[in-house]
Amino acid sequence: MSDAWKASPQDDDVIWYGEVVVGRDVPGGTHTTYQYGYSAELDPDPSGLCPDGWAVLESKRVPVRGGPARFTVDSAPGVAFRLVGFPTVDDGSGGEDIDDSMALVVAVGDNYLRTVDVADLTALDDGDWCGQCGQLGCGHDGRE
Ligand SMILES: [Zn+2]
Repeated sequence: MSDAWKASPQDDDVIWYGEVVVGRDVPGGTHTTYQYGYSAELDPDPSGLCPDGWAVLESKRVPVRGGPARFTVDSAPGVAFRLVGFPTVDDGSGGEDIDDSMALVVAVGDNYLRTVDVADLTALDDGDWCGQCGQLGCGHDGRE
């Protein structure tokens, strides 16, 4: 596992949960298993969760709800968003599942809820966004 990923969310700065399905050839077929971890890096590669000798078959990363991170959204550049949750979908038997391929986000300084693709989220460094209006590059909240 690469240094970008930890086995458990050890600190409050965790931004991403990552998961990979990995496989390797064994006599008679392919052995698959999965690995998961947590990362405080802005842009960790989920394939870093793959152990040596295994190949990544599937990977995903999901922002951690309640984390400190702010994100940009490809469809609304220039503004920081915070993650507020994930949409639920019908699980086909009357219940609900969380769809963690999508994220519910709200712009800093706004209250309009948007549903966006998790793949369109980019985590921001803390000083890159304004705490008052949410705009990137605005310094009027006094932070450096
Ligand atoms: Zn501002």
